[in-house]
Order: sequence, then C-alpha cells, then structure tokens
Amino acid sequence: MEILVKEAPNAIITLEHMGVPFTRNMQGKIEQRRFGGHTKNYGQAPIKRACYVSDRTGRAIMDTLYDRCQTKAVDFYNEFFILKLLFSGDHCCGISGYDIATCEPHVFHAKAIVLATGGSGKIYKTTSNGFASTADGFALAMDSLIPLEDMEFVQFHPTGIYGLGILISEAARAEGGVLRNGLGERFMERYAPI
Ligand SMILES: Cc1cc2nc3c(=O)[nH]c(=O)nc-3n(C[C@H](O)[C@H](O)[C@H](O)COP(=O)(O)OP(=O)(O)OC[C@H]3O[C@@H](n4cnc5c(N)ncnc54)[C@H](O)[C@@H]3O)c2cc1C
Repeated sequence: MEILVKEAPNAIITLEHMGVPFTRNMQGKIEQRRFGGHTKNYGQAPIKRACYVSDRTGRAIMDTLYDRCQTKAVDFYNEFFILKLLFSGDHCCGISGYDIATCEPHVFHAKAIVLATGGSGKIYKTTSNGFASTADGFALAMDSLIPLEDMEFVQFHPTGIYGLGILISEAARAEGGVLRNGLGERFMERYAPI
C-alpha cells in the first residue's frame, strides 16, 4: 500500500509523458474522480483520487504502451501458447509452447523470464474475468516445483450482472449508484456508511 501511494503520482506523470491523454479539468490539470474505497482521514469523508481517460482508461494506457513498444522495436508473439518453463540446472533459461494459428512448436531462450499470465478467475462458475484467466502461470510454476504464494488474494467485484458475471463498473457507484438488497434496503450502510 505504501509503495502504491508513494509511486502512483509519478506513474501517472510518466504515463502522461508517454502520451496517455488523461482527462483534464477546467484549470488544465489532470481531472480525478471517485472510485471504490476513495476516502480521506481513514474513511471519514469521500475524496476523488482516480485519474482517468474518459470511459476508456485501460484502453488508452494499453494503446499508448503498445505504441511506445513499437517505437522501441519490441517483438510481440501474439497468439502463442506457453506450455513449459525450461531450465538449465536451477536457472530458468527459456519457455516452450506453440503458435495457436499454425500449431507450430516454438522454444524461446532468455536470460530472464517474467510470468504475467493473469489470474485464476475462470475457476469460478460466475466471473467477470476473460477466458484467458485460467491460472496458466501458476500451473507453469507449480509444474517446475516453484512455490506459489498469496493465492488467497482474489478480488470479488461488488457489482455485476447476476448469472452472467458481466461487470458493472464501480464508476457507476462513484456517479451516485447505490446497492440495495431484495427488500430495497441500502444494506451497505450497515458495513461502510460513506
Ligand atoms: C471486467 C474487468 C474490469 C476491470 N476494471 C479495472 C479497472 O477499472 N481498473 C483497474 O485497475 N483494474 C481493472 N481490472 C483488473 C485488471 O484488468 C487486471 O488486474 C489486469 O488486467 C491484470 O493484468 P495481468 O497482466 O496480470 O493479467 P492479464 O491482463 O489477465 O493478462 C494475462 C495475459 O496472459 C495471457 N496468457 C495466459 N496464459 C497464457 C499462456 N499459457 N501462454 C501465453 N499467454 C498466456 C493471456 O492471454 C493474457 O493476455 C478489471 C478486470 C476486469 C475483468
């Protein structure tokens, strides 16, 4: 939490310098809006903290970072499926998998491997996660006897369409939406009054 709080402002400035077109207020400064849990003085009053790009923040960040990668000639192997970590003694020295379009097998050698294969949301019957969230990174690590940690940290979003799991953005609550139970009661006031 401390790292997040300390580094977030610089991360926003870095992203903006890269070209993310953050929404501005009338004074020309980056605008902020309220999202889940944004309070000041340990929950005493709501506050606006989230910087955003209209209603497409994630998309704008992703497009900007992708463009930057293009200028640095970063290679992308999209639609490749990774099946195994490769080791030389104790050192992870590559990965193997295949090109989904052609089924052609591939081996990648590398000095370092970072697994960023997302979470395990698809183990739940109802989830807002994408079809790719099948815990592949966990399985790749486990298969190589690498211990897993913090497995219990799964976010359950408070609002979604019942049965389908389609997410209703927390921005809906930030803009004044409230949660009611089957009796029409605003039950969250019992747990988090703000
Ligand atoms: C509906 C929804 C709304 C959200 N809204 C917000 C929001 O407003 N703000 C916010 O901060 N966060 C939000 N999040 C959370 C955020 O999107 C995730 O925390 C974030 O995308 C996780 O990033 P990641 O890189 O760890 O994994 P992912 O984005 O899941 O990326 C993992 C990638 O690995 C690939 N992959 C998986 N297995 C393999 C394999 N074996 N071989 C090759 N590739 C593989 C997948 O195809 C995928 O492309 C939202 C999430 C959802 C589902």
